[in-house]
Amino acid sequence: MVNGIIIKGIGGFYYVKTESGIVECRARGIFREEKLTPLVGDKVKIRISDEDNTGYIEEIYPRTSQLLRPPVANITQAIIVMSIKKPDINTWLLDRFLIMAEHEKLEIIICINKSDLMPEKALELKTIYENIGYRVINTSVVAGLGIDELKIALDNNISVFAGPSGVGKSSLLNAVNRNFKLETGDVSTKTKRGKHTTRHVELLELHDNAFVLDSPGFSSLNIDFIEEEIQLKNYFKEIYKYGENCRFISCLHGNEPDCEVKKQVEEGNIFKERYENYLFFLEEIKNIRRY
Ligand code: GDP
Ligand code: ZN
Repeated sequence: MVNGIIIKGIGGFYYVKTESGIVECRARGIFREEKLTPLVGDKVKIRISDEDNTGYIEEIYPRTSQLLRPPVANITQAIIVMSIKKPDINTWLLDRFLIMAEHEKLEIIICINKSDLMPEKALELKTIYENIGYRVINTSVVAGLGIDELKIALDNNISVFAGPSGVGKSSLLNAVNRNFKLETGDVSTKTKRGKHTTRHVELLELHDNAFVLDSPGFSSLNIDFIEEEIQLKNYFKEIYKYGENCRFISCLHGNEPDCEVKKQVEEGNIFKERYENYLFFLEEIKNIRRY
């Protein structure tokens, strides 16, 4: 028996990366009875047949995480990619992706790509999100900036690149490993081609012990797992922190009196856009609850 990791699954076959190469496997019937479907990312124990080097998955090790869309197990890290321009940075989307990744309890790296197009604004944004407590890497595929740092950050992780179309996710993946040949291009040409091909999920091996998912994470940005308005602050580190000094412990930082969060926004210690995004999401959670 050998250990490995499922890097691809197509039509009932699972491709398991082991120390001695990739083995085509089937899953034992027992998993069907247990209603347990092997997932890309699963760490498994396999039995290899002597005759033809195919195998059977005998055991699936407990998962540390499981994403639904795309379906993948054991992701450890989300690289949330935004571009500073083309498309313009959108903090609403960035904060939304951050909520998703926090919810999945993943390590998070914010990657501000295309920083060649507006270096100063990219640095400004890096400082803002670093002050909140996030790790930020500014990159430029064109100028070769930040690529080495990103590569090192992928070590010992199974990472998913998340972010809107056109920000440079595929370009970054191709840059961290020259063997990757992911399709890149502007939004219009890519989506046209993408429609005709059913995509499967696959882990790409960057090097030993570093895998990246070949398709973008968090295709749904639904936040209805946040049931109560009061829980939203748990996804905004700085609002949580300053909120401890509000007059009311139940303060939602909207129109309550003596709100420390609002005060810190006015004094410039909380990024105004983040606060506005927070209020927007708050309203959304309120509306979900009315149904
Ligand atoms: P994805 O949809 O997020 O995978 O984005 P792509 O990797 O396909 O990139 C979209 C477009 O942005 C392509 O035309 C790339 O050549 C371009 N691009 C990617 N990275 C950079 C960068 O760092 N700087 C600039 N100026 N353009 C970039
Ligand atoms: Zn408050």
